[in-house]
Amino acid sequence: MSILDKIKKLFSLTPKNEHISFNIKCGKCQEIITVHVSPTNDLMNQYTDLKDSGPAYILKKEVLGNNCNNLMKLTVEFDKNYNVISKSAEGGEVIS
Ligand SMILES: [Zn+2]
Repeated sequence: MSILDKIKKLFSLTPKNEHISFNIKCGKCQEIITVHVSPTNDLMNQYTDLKDSGPAYILKKEVLGNNCNNLMKLTVEFDKNYNVISKSAEGGEVIS
C-alpha cells in the first residue's frame, strides 16, 4: 500500500464528517466572522506526539473579514474524540 493510500485510509476512518463553526471577532474592526471547518480536510493529525493528554489534532486557519485587512490566525486544538480543548485567534478573539 502506498503512503498516499494509507493517508486516504486514515482520513476515511475519521469518525465525524460534519462541519464545525467558529465565530471570530476581528481585533481591528470588531467584525464577526464565521469560519466553517471540515474536520476531515482541515485538521492536522499530531501523529508524532500522541500522548493521553494534549491535543490529538490541531487546526490552523487564516481568517480574513470583509471590512478590513486584518489577517487573523485561528488555532484550535482537539483531543482524539474531536472535542475542542482550546481555541485562540491571533489578531482577533474567538467568541464561540
Ligand atoms: Zn476587521
